[in-house]
Amino acid sequence: MSLNFCILASGSSGNCSVIWTEEAAILVDCGCSARYIMENLASLGIPPENLTATVITHVHTDHISTSGFSFLLKNNIPIYLHKDIFEDLSRKYAKKVAKCINISFNKTFKVKDIVVDSFDVYHKDAHISHTLGFTFSSIVNVKKYKIGYVTDTGKICSKIIKSLVNSNILVMESNYNKTMLDSSFRPYDNKKWILSDWGHLSNESAASAIAEIKRLSTDNESLKYVFLAHISSHHNTREIAVNTTRKILIREGTSNINLLIPKRDRRCPAIRIS
Ligand SMILES: [Zn+2]
Repeated sequence: MSLNFCILASGSSGNCSVIWTEEAAILVDCGCSARYIMENLASLGIPPENLTATVITHVHTDHISTSGFSFLLKNNIPIYLHKDIFEDLSRKYAKKVAKCINISFNKTFKVKDIVVDSFDVYHKDAHISHTLGFTFSSIVNVKKYKIGYVTDTGKICSKIIKSLVNSNILVMESNYNKTMLDSSFRPYDNKKWILSDWGHLSNESAASAIAEIKRLSTDNESLKYVFLAHISSHHNTREIAVNTTRKILIREGTSNINLLIPKRDRRCPAIRIS
């Protein structure tokens, strides 16, 4: 038995990840082209018919693209949706949504041997009303393993931390470096939104959250892999994000974490817990 995880793409040009066991395979967001998703799933040995579910964090195009949504519909992949996110999706893709296999969910549901839990995060604008974070848990050799997933949130609160505690693999948005954002040529309103509680997360806030999650976990060694996700191409760099996080983790007395940065256009190596 095994629990596997791979980020296919991360960033403002497209987000998509896959979590799979021998029984189930769940796509998290679908913000890339159908071709890219299919090619990368194929490289992991996952044909589209093996996908048992999709969950969507929110309906910004980099999390569900027109092509990605068509891929889900064409392959009849069940889309588990929060009711607010279903409404956002209906506004965006009015005709297509009628064809969608919509399975609304409460906070927790099960896809075969993977338990999916969702929680509210802080990310909305004129086009989207709701964004979720997720955890995915499965039993491997009588031990429970957990993957925590948060991209796109303006802030982290104690409820989010509580949901993510005891994760073994964590995906955490680390969107911007404030100095770079302040000096960028973005329109003032856009900058203001990114910096707001409903926009995106800074490198410093992400790092503090990671340290807090590790500190509060029952087993201090349980968190092994952290992906710094959704790094902005305009107001952040991979080096700045990693160095900032490392510095804060050291300051907080946190070590033994593999810090990884997913790419925009190439999938990460898969992580296998077995
Ligand atoms: Zn977004």
